[in-house]
Amino acid sequence: MTNIGSFPLKWVAWETTKKCNLKCIHCRSNADASHFDTVDTKKAIELMEKVAEFARPVFVLTGGEPLLRGDIFELAKYGTKLGFKMAMATNGSLVTDEVCEKIKGSGIKIISLSLDGPGAEAHDNFRKQKGSFDAVISAAEKFRAHGIEFLINSSFTKRNQPYIEDTYLLARKLGAKAWYMFIVVPMGRGKGLLDELISREDYEKILKWHYNMEIKEHEILVRPTCAPSYYRIFAEEQKKSGNNSDRRKLSFSPGGGKGCVAGQSIAYISAEGDVYPCSYFTGPGGNIFRQKFSEIWESGLFKSFRDYSDYKSRCGVCDYRNTCGGCRARALIYDNDLKSNDPYCGYVPASWEAVK
Ligand code: SF4
Ligand code: SF4
Repeated sequence: MTNIGSFPLKWVAWETTKKCNLKCIHCRSNADASHFDTVDTKKAIELMEKVAEFARPVFVLTGGEPLLRGDIFELAKYGTKLGFKMAMATNGSLVTDEVCEKIKGSGIKIISLSLDGPGAEAHDNFRKQKGSFDAVISAAEKFRAHGIEFLINSSFTKRNQPYIEDTYLLARKLGAKAWYMFIVVPMGRGKGLLDELISREDYEKILKWHYNMEIKEHEILVRPTCAPSYYRIFAEEQKKSGNNSDRRKLSFSPGGGKGCVAGQSIAYISAEGDVYPCSYFTGPGGNIFRQKFSEIWESGLFKSFRDYSDYKSRCGVCDYRNTCGGCRARALIYDNDLKSNDPYCGYVPASWEAVK
C-alpha cells in the first residue's frame, strides 16, 4: 500500500448508484428513479480493491440512494474486510429495523442523514417529496434505538435559509453525533438554483453565526462543510475576542486543519469510476477502472490542488491562503479557473489593496 507524501488520502466517497427515490433540488448527481446501477458487484469490488491498493481511508457509500443497491451490505462488508472505515450517506427514507441490523452487521461505523429543515414544510420542499421529513425523523430514532452513530448534513439555499438555526437545534435534539451545515454549490441539479443561492453577504453572516454557535456548543460536533473561509472567520473572531478554543474533531471528518481539502486528503469517485478531487469539482483526474488510484492521486490535476502558490486574485495574495484555500470548485464554476478567487468570500486582503 502506498500513500503519497504529506497528502495522504483520508476520506473517499463513492457514488454507488445514481438511482434515487427522491429528486432533491440541489443533487450533485442529478439522481432520480430513472437511473440504473452503473457498475455491478464485481466491478464495485474491483473499485474498492483499487482504492485499497493505495490507502485505507474512511470510505463513504453515497449515491443517489445507496440503500437502493441490492448488494450494498455485501459491498460494505467487503470494504470493512479491506480495512476501510465504512460510512454511508442516506436520505433516510428506506431505514427500517432490518436495515439497521444490516448496517451493524456490515461494519458500517457511521451514517450521514440529510435534513434540510426543522419541519416538513422546509425539508419536503427541498427534497421534493411529501413525507421525507417524517422519514428522516423516524430514521434518526431507529439509529438511536439500535446504537448506530449518525451525523446530520443540512444543505441550504435562500429557500430554507431562515431555518438554519432551527435545523441545527433539531439535529442536536435528534442525537446526531455531528451537524454539518452546507451552503449549496451549483453542481448537477443545483445548477438550476443560481437565482436562489445564498448571497455572499449572507454567507459571511451565517458563518459568523456558526462561529458564535460553535464556541458554545460542547455536546455535538458542528462544522460548516465546504465553507473554507470559515477558517479565516474563525481566526479573525478568535483574535478579536482573545478566545483561543480548540476545535474538536470527528474521526470520520474529511477535514484537517485547512478549509478546502479537495485532492489533498479527499477524493470522490463517480458511478462511472471517474475520480474527482471532491464531489463538487467538475473535472476528473482519471478513471479508476483504467488507471491505478496512485496515478490519479499524482495526476497534474490533483497535484495542482496542493500548490497554493499560484492562486489568483484576492485568494492569491491572501494571508489565509494556506489555511482557508478558498473553494476551488466554486472558482471553476464561476470563473472557469480553479485557481481563481473563491466567489463566495468577501474578504479583501490588505495586500490586495496594495496590488491594485
Ligand atoms: S480571499 Fe481566498 S484564501 Fe482568503 S479568506 Fe477568502 S477564500 Fe480564503
Ligand atoms: S473545492 Fe469547494 S466543494 Fe470541493 S472540497 Fe474544496 S471547498 Fe469543498
